[in-house]
Formats: sequence, C-alpha cells, structure tokens
Amino acid sequence: KAQRTPLIAGNWKMNLDHLQAIALVQKLSWGLKDVKHDYSETEVAVFPPFTDLRSVQTLLAADKLSLVLGAQDVSPHESGAYTGDVSAQMLAKLDVHYLLVGHSERRQGHGESDELVGQKALAAHRAGMVPMICVGETAEDLEQHGAAAIPLAQLAAALAPLPQDAEFVIAYEPVWAIGSGQAATPEQAQEVAKAIRESLRELRGDERADATRVLYGGSVSSQNVAGFLRQPDVDGALVGGASLKSDEFTRIIQFKK
Ligand code: PEP
Repeated sequence: KAQRTPLIAGNWKMNLDHLQAIALVQKLSWGLKDVKHDYSETEVAVFPPFTDLRSVQTLLAADKLSLVLGAQDVSPHESGAYTGDVSAQMLAKLDVHYLLVGHSERRQGHGESDELVGQKALAAHRAGMVPMICVGETAEDLEQHGAAAIPLAQLAAALAPLPQDAEFVIAYEPVWAIGSGQAATPEQAQEVAKAIRESLRELRGDERADATRVLYGGSVSSQNVAGFLRQPDVDGALVGGASLKSDEFTRIIQFKK
C-alpha cells in the first residue's frame, strides 16, 4: 500500500455550469491551500461535465493549481459520424488525465455493455490518458452472487482489450451504495478491493497489481472516509454528491487529519 499514492476523486455528474465549476474549483483550491494540503501525499482529481472542462483547464493552468482533471465519459471511436459524442483526443487536448469508464449510471441509463466499457478504456489509453474503470454489483447481484463476482467479471471484460502495459485505476462502487446515503462498511469495501487486487495479480502480474489504485465509491462523506482509507487494499475514494461542496470535499481530502 505504501507505494500507492491515495487518490480522492470528485465525480460531479451532471451538475454545475462552467461558471459554477470555476467558482467551486477556486474555493476548493483556496480551502486546500489554507490547510496546506500536500498534493504529493494525497492526489486530488475532479470530473466536471464536458462543457466545464475548458474553463477548469484554463483556471488550473493560469493559477498553477495541482488538481488533476478527469472526464466522465468518452467515445470508443477516434472521430467521425458520431453525433453528440466526444473523442479521447479532444479530451486529452484539454489536459484531461483520468477518464471515468463504466460508471453504473452509464451502464444502467445508457445500456453500456462490459465490451463497450473496455473499448472506451482502450480509447482513453491510446490517447495517453488513464482510464478509471468503475465496477460494482447491484443489490440484486449482491443477494444472488455475493459481493465480488460481478465486479470481477466486469473488471476482466474491461481489461481484455487493454495492452499489458496500460496504466489504470479501479473504482469499486456498489450500485446500492451510490447516492443512497448507505455506504458499504469499510470491511465490505476491503473484501472486494482485495479480491480485485488478487484478480489483477492473475490478469496483469504482481507489479501492476501492487501499483494499481483501487478506490471505493458510494456515499463517501467526511464522516466515513477514513475508515475506508485505513483498509489495506483501498487506495482512495470516488466521491459523488459530497464533491459538490468545497468544504465537505476538502474535509474528505484531509481524511488523515
Ligand atoms: C458516484 O457516482 O461515483 C458516487 C460515488 O456517488 P455518491 O458519492 O453520491 O454516492
């Protein structure tokens, strides 16, 4: 665990226009400056909607801010007749570093298959970005198959097209915990994060398994974040609702204090 820098990531989902985005990033970076946050100790990333990316990129560059930029989705195609889609190249040009793929809201609301998630991860990798692959079981899956089976199947499918040397991050997000206020327990998160790492060991070898960050997501707050980060196989958090409030997100980022 020592070799993996914790990562706290804020998924804004479809919230905040570009002016509100600028205001939030400013408040967040000022707040983190106030508490003398060490970005090399805990990495911080934000995932704004597409329409905000250019504004946030400009702000980060102009003020030399150390927040890392992520995007919430990507087309699996390079370019062409795909109305409404956004390519990996376009996002890479905006200094996007992380790319969320396979979020349960896209799997459910847009019918994204495991195969498509893998193609999106590949598109992100080819454009020089790091896919953040989301996996997680529904309440029904949990009852029928236990916690780890579905996330592990989703993981194997998403990794299949990625070359062996590709870097990626995994976000374990039990669907029943997302936006429900009912987070998993730290022990539940650890159990699946450990199974994910064991699976990575088989699929990608020890070096990749030891270096890859596995985040927990699902109703993370400043009250429960430390419990997750104390687990040996949990290396960070993917935060939805609580990342929209700069004070609360700052407290989450400062989970050690
Ligand atoms: C998410 O959507 O990735 C998420 C974890 O949301 P929330 O923190 O609001 O449960």
